[in-house]
Amino acid sequence: MTSNNISNLPTPDRPGGSKVGSHFIQTFRSCQMRWFYGWLAPHPTGGLGLEEVHVGMPLLVGLEVHEGLAALYLTDDDEESIKALLEANFQHTDRYWTKEDKFKSRDQGLALLNSYFEAYDPDDLQVVIGHNSKPLVEVELEIDLGYQGYFYTARLDTYVHDKFSHYYPLEHKTVDVGRKSTLAKEMDLSTQATGQIFLATHLLPEMPPTGLIVNMLVKRAAKAATPEEKNLRHHTYRTPQDLEKFRLDITSTLQTLDNAIGYYLDLVKNGMEPYQASRQAFVMQGGKDCSWCQFRTLCLNPETIREFTRGFRARSTSDDY
Ligand code: SF4
Repeated sequence: MTSNNISNLPTPDRPGGSKVGSHFIQTFRSCQMRWFYGWLAPHPTGGLGLEEVHVGMPLLVGLEVHEGLAALYLTDDDEESIKALLEANFQHTDRYWTKEDKFKSRDQGLALLNSYFEAYDPDDLQVVIGHNSKPLVEVELEIDLGYQGYFYTARLDTYVHDKFSHYYPLEHKTVDVGRKSTLAKEMDLSTQATGQIFLATHLLPEMPPTGLIVNMLVKRAAKAATPEEKNLRHHTYRTPQDLEKFRLDITSTLQTLDNAIGYYLDLVKNGMEPYQASRQAFVMQGGKDCSWCQFRTLCLNPETIREFTRGFRARSTSDDY
């Protein structure tokens, strides 16, 4: 199919519907049981059965720098950017992070932002102004996929154009110096990036994206590195065929998901214990290391799962269930 299929997709004209994003899709693709714990089987206490976890300092730096860059592109003012980072540091750390993380992330974040200010001329990429006269910063896009009421959503950090009037989502990433090439390669294949380009192509047709720019702020760079070496922009592109394949692949995953949900609910209605039914209907990631999974303790302990799935309230993604 060609890009015409993309432009013929229904334009969102109503709120609601079941929203899915790249995290939702990727979770289901990586391990269906993990998706089940997170989306279908609310814990009887109302939560997801997860303990609050200590999130590492690298993530904290990324969150804070992200806030600083959002303010920079909204206001075009370095001081506002710094203020936003400090505010995020204050807000984020009191509850989830240690004092040591707080100081380290603030200092590392400030160094990254200051290097960013030095590396780029503020006019090299201009923020696009949307129909509502607001800059397109932290903008949430969604589109009806034309299948079972599902809406695909993605957030653009910033939508920009260069001096040649080429348009791009600008995706901010803090990255360790040793991972910058890997990150660039990952973004060339990333479902998240493809989704952002797909949505911008369809929903911003008068200024369609040429590709996506990964705005990398490099952590732990050598002291002697120049601001240009600490700040890199990787351009990644998708063809119309890539975008159509993306849409078809998402729809196919959602069909598999709906079938699994339907099977699970049928088993439960026919009297099977939800724990057993979940193991029947949803495929567990096979043979791989699960140490990274936040549901691991739950997943490896049948008694805990029984408690987790007891009194379940089906939270389907489709109106059919
Ligand atoms: S522990 Fe492993 S099998 Fe269980 S939900 Fe997590 S990834 Fe899937």
